[in-house]
Amino acid sequence: TVAGLLALSLAACGQEALGGSRYKPEGGAGVTVGLAMPTKSSERWIADGRNMAKQFQKAGYRTDLQYGDDKVENQVAQIESMITKGVGLLVVAAIDGSALSDVLRQAQDADIPVISYDRLIMGTGSVDYYASFDNERVGRLQAQYIVDKLELGKPEKGGKTHRVELFAGSPDDNNTKYFWNGAMKVLRPYLGSGQLVVGSGQATMAKAATLRWSGETAQKRMDDIITKSYGQDRLDAVLSPYDGISIGIISALQSAGYGTKSQPLPVVTGQDAELASVKSIIRGEQTQTVFKDTRKLARQAVQMGDAALTGKKVEVNNTSDYDNGVKTVPSYLLDPVSIDRKNTRLLVDEGYFTAGQLK
Ligand code: BGC
Repeated sequence: TVAGLLALSLAACGQEALGGSRYKPEGGAGVTVGLAMPTKSSERWIADGRNMAKQFQKAGYRTDLQYGDDKVENQVAQIESMITKGVGLLVVAAIDGSALSDVLRQAQDADIPVISYDRLIMGTGSVDYYASFDNERVGRLQAQYIVDKLELGKPEKGGKTHRVELFAGSPDDNNTKYFWNGAMKVLRPYLGSGQLVVGSGQATMAKAATLRWSGETAQKRMDDIITKSYGQDRLDAVLSPYDGISIGIISALQSAGYGTKSQPLPVVTGQDAELASVKSIIRGEQTQTVFKDTRKLARQAVQMGDAALTGKKVEVNNTSDYDNGVKTVPSYLLDPVSIDRKNTRLLVDEGYFTAGQLK
């Protein structure tokens, strides 16, 4: 058959063929792309959705962009409705990575390719590609920042004990364990040697997790920890996996008296280079964040989606690290960049923010 021949010739040149009607040689013309994003409560997802919609439209596609308001049932209903309306491609940033198997089976039955966006969709074979950042590296950058700032790698500094508290992301987001594992790889030797101590004793991912990445939840947990575990002792660093969480942590610390000359704030990490956090870094409150250029991620997903639909080679750079329990999903991972007060300028140079926004 023609489809068979096509599959053969694609296989011969190292390309993956999408079977049957998934192959749409006409590309953009007449195809709507469904973009299912998790929440508008964080700037990054607003930018992700907007950037993808813009770029897909530029490539000639129509787009249906939906936000799930961090409620799993909303996202499932939105994806279901996209399938019913006949989208040709789905790009999904999952709220709960393990809650989409049923709805994505419907997508597969309808021959709709699925790209897992930023967060890996778990426990289903009905996901074709994954576009994200090197998530483990995000965690390593955060932890390394703490190590460098506290000068833990320098035994000549006297081997003083430093106190740290650990926050992890949402337990239903597959990225959470990559961030955590990356960070712990860096911190473990110092925790082992006693140079670093988790004052609260809450040192497992389960104890450190923050459901739905809520800044409020993190603030409460930080409040609690300071009250219970930091009577006389000073807290030196907080591993925070996301800017919204960092802002909550900093509020709790300020309420407890941190942020003055005699009691400066601890080192507080973050992720996403959200405007409020970048400003906080410039003010000297939050210490670090990890910049992940959402425009580049959007571009990557658009390229992958367009290639999948038009039968071109889908570019991937990792085929081993992202196993979702059913398959190892071919991935394209971009590089995250650590940002602190010294290099916020990069965000302006890259056109991510204007100089005016950072004033
Ligand atoms: C993303 C992070 C983001 C977090 C909270 C994660 O899946 O990779 O960039 O900070 O979700 O929205």
